Amino acid sequence: MRRFFPLLLLLLSPALARAGDLKAGAYAQDITPTKFPISVNGGFADRKATAANDPLHARCLVLDDGTTKLALVVVDSCMIPRELIDAAKALAEKKTGIPAKNMMISATHTHTAPTVAGVFGSEPDAEYVKFLTQKIAEGIETAHKRCGPAKLAWGVAEEPNQVFNRRWKMKPGVKNLDPFGGDTDKVRMNPPRMSADLLEPAGPTDPRVTVLSVMTPDDKPLALFANYSLHYVGDLPALSADYFGAFANSVAAKLNAGKGFVGILSNGTSGDCNNINFMAEATKTMPGERCRLVADAVATAAVKALEKAEYVTNVVLRSVVTEIDLGVRKPTADEVKRAEGILEKAKGRDLKGYEETYARETVLMAKYPDAVKVPLQVMRIGHLAVVAIPCETFAEIGLEIKKNISVLKTTCVVSLANGYYGYLPTPAHHALGGYETWRARSSFLEVQASPKIEKAVGELMKALLTK
Ligand SMILES: [Zn+2]
Repeated sequence: MRRFFPLLLLLLSPALARAGDLKAGAYAQDITPTKFPISVNGGFADRKATAANDPLHARCLVLDDGTTKLALVVVDSCMIPRELIDAAKALAEKKTGIPAKNMMISATHTHTAPTVAGVFGSEPDAEYVKFLTQKIAEGIETAHKRCGPAKLAWGVAEEPNQVFNRRWKMKPGVKNLDPFGGDTDKVRMNPPRMSADLLEPAGPTDPRVTVLSVMTPDDKPLALFANYSLHYVGDLPALSADYFGAFANSVAAKLNAGKGFVGILSNGTSGDCNNINFMAEATKTMPGERCRLVADAVATAAVKALEKAEYVTNVVLRSVVTEIDLGVRKPTADEVKRAEGILEKAKGRDLKGYEETYARETVLMAKYPDAVKVPLQVMRIGHLAVVAIPCETFAEIGLEIKKNISVLKTTCVVSLANGYYGYLPTPAHHALGGYETWRARSSFLEVQASPKIEKAVGELMKALLTK
């Protein structure tokens, strides 16, 4: 018989483990490619980077409570397929003994990193896929080797000024065209700023900056793992770690951290939220200025989140994983026929515009299986729950998990973790339509995917509390 701890008891109990004292190690593994030009993920058409503006990293944190070891890795990449992540975990398990199920590997969603997942016009660079797999495993190995006595604290603060819902309901009479020849979408992604046709945002934002702080027993900052629900900023040339890299530098400076400190910013539930204030004029800034500004604001909130934090040395660590079957939204025979016709006309030249790009995606989606297995994970680090979803998760889903599903006091939801299964809108957002729902390799899970994922996360939360 399974026995569940009542939530109240858990909240009142200290985050203590009976096992030995806590150890932690962190390492920022450089993953900048050495060969250029290289394909860049994140656009409709492929782009080639010829240099790195700033280095890319796989930021690794290993925790050890004496019985259980966890590894959390956040990679400067747009999206990483499950096969690559599973291969990196298997390699790292061999080198460290940390079970793969106790590892969480996510992508930041910088749109200026080498392609390792095929989406729209960009296809993976095979050599870099191999390189990245090995480097992630090496990073975990180095963080593991660096493990030493540590203490942990967690907390939450808010930065509401850097997140905006990017899906807008438009005034009656405005037609929103989709790339499949239809005009029934009720919302538009990234509408023109200050447009007179803007009605209201179609969803909320999550302003929380959730933080896990790792220090040595004598108060030296070792690592800071944060989570914020912002898609990315995008004002730096490829290759770049975007504001995720700038955050690591900014938070290190604010904490007066020494060499070896690793700042880590994971992507929260930002599937529908970006950094554009649609109700204000654009301000003129230099390249990289917005990245620095946003990073600084999020780092300020991260430091504030720890103001009242109490550091503990004996912490329960746990990781529970599951896999659920989700249906794939496949095109009908007629839709495939229409797409093939569009591609036939474009034969012999690069594809242009939404219609042609999505025609190719339609043909590719026809070859997808009818259902896919989607990995889900929840880690417990003391009273902090880290939920991992392999999608570009909408803000509402993160808010729901935090408010009604998590059994722990502090919760963050990491998107694009342990694989890539496209956007995750709610069924209500599917009904509204818009870019994030348009069927492609970037959005293909069944309409009911999010309630099924929330239910499975709820089950994992229960499993987290069983002995
Ligand atoms: Zn995205």
